[in-house]
Amino acid sequence: MHDVIVIGGGIVGASAAYHLAKSGAKTLLIDRRDKGRATDAGAGILSAETSGASLPASWFPFALQAVGYYSPLIGELESEGVGDTGYAVTGELIVAVDDDELDAYAEKKRVIDERQHGRGLPSVEDLHEVSPAEARELFPALGQVQKALYFSGAARVDGRLLAAALLKMAERSGLANRAEGVDSLIVEGSRVTGVQVGSETISADQVIIAGGAWSVAFGTQLGVQIPVEPQRGQIIHLSLPETDTGKWPIVDAFHGHYMVAWADSRVVVGATREVGSGFVPYTSAAGVHEVLGEAMRVAPGLSSAQVADIRVGLRPRTADNLPVMGGIPGVEGLYLAMGHGANGLQLGPFSGKLAAEWALGVENGVDISAFSITRFGG
Ligand SMILES: Cc1cc2nc3c(=O)[nH]c(=O)nc-3n(C[C@H](O)[C@H](O)[C@H](O)COP(=O)(O)OP(=O)(O)OC[C@H]3O[C@@H](n4cnc5c(N)ncnc54)[C@H](O)[C@@H]3O)c2cc1C
Repeated sequence: MHDVIVIGGGIVGASAAYHLAKSGAKTLLIDRRDKGRATDAGAGILSAETSGASLPASWFPFALQAVGYYSPLIGELESEGVGDTGYAVTGELIVAVDDDELDAYAEKKRVIDERQHGRGLPSVEDLHEVSPAEARELFPALGQVQKALYFSGAARVDGRLLAAALLKMAERSGLANRAEGVDSLIVEGSRVTGVQVGSETISADQVIIAGGAWSVAFGTQLGVQIPVEPQRGQIIHLSLPETDTGKWPIVDAFHGHYMVAWADSRVVVGATREVGSGFVPYTSAAGVHEVLGEAMRVAPGLSSAQVADIRVGLRPRTADNLPVMGGIPGVEGLYLAMGHGANGLQLGPFSGKLAAEWALGVENGVDISAFSITRFGG
């Protein structure tokens, strides 16, 4: 008998399992490790201040809290002796290259300025426009840009490494881990009492569903709509031997793509956003063409880079691009932590922590009412 079962071992489930195990709860993580797990492909951009500009207003305060949680979490993991998670504050350049990007640039700058001034922030050093030449000094592969805004606070993390680190630490605290698929939930009366894995019934007091895009499958059984759908993202890792890319900032342009540089002479460029892709995480000719074409447009200095890896992930996307968090009315002991879409690496560790706290009965005071499953009327 377990205190809590966590379904899914991406960034959200790994974080929930970490916080549960650390608190002493008898926890079982069940993860099918599907091909296309979003956490394994995510670019790793962490910058609430400069992202989600078109999302509903409830996203921003939550995202600020979530990204703010990175600093104590990484500090804690480092003090526990985990290896590198790729986490670093590198800053971000938001650039307009072609004329068709200038309006979007101005609008994004306006939103970021408004958000920051609303919070009494930031200093000019933290957020300011830079000249095209200064932009290229920061990210030498850039071509000619017309406008560039620099934000010093943006960070990046390697989702794969972070999820693995959380699970390693959780296992040290007693987490049990099974690489299997949960077929269904066991619900008796108005309470969840465990899960079904093949012919085996596994009992638990509480269950957290953190199954990413695959979470949708539980809706039918529960008689609610869980409107999370897969959105395929293809992303390419470019290697630049002999080039020190460790301090290059994140670059964000306005045809929906970005670049993230890492310490090992690598720049990750992406990504496609394929709505309606279904559960088919494959690399397509059109996807690779789109990603490399956009990277070359913004940063022609990458054209001689070696293609080191191509990853594909299925973002768990909801219709309003907000996550689905909290309980399901009428089913005690069951918690949802899913639907983080294009922002799951930013939000995921915090969401997992919250889910763990709900299961432990810890009052955290975080307002997640905007993310309730009930907003879909299911
Ligand atoms: C190309 C790309 C770029 C991205 N870039 C960024 C970025 O820069 N910044 C950012 O914040 N986010 C980014 N994201 C989004 C982010 O990666 C995701 O939102 C996040 O990783 C989702 O985490 P998750 O744990 O909810 O789901 P996942 O990582 O998909 O994990 C879900 C897990 O649950 C398991 N599972 C599902 N159903 C079951 C079941 N029935 N039984 C057992 N196990 C089950 C699956 O096998 C899987 O392992 C990006 C995503 C992609 C694809």
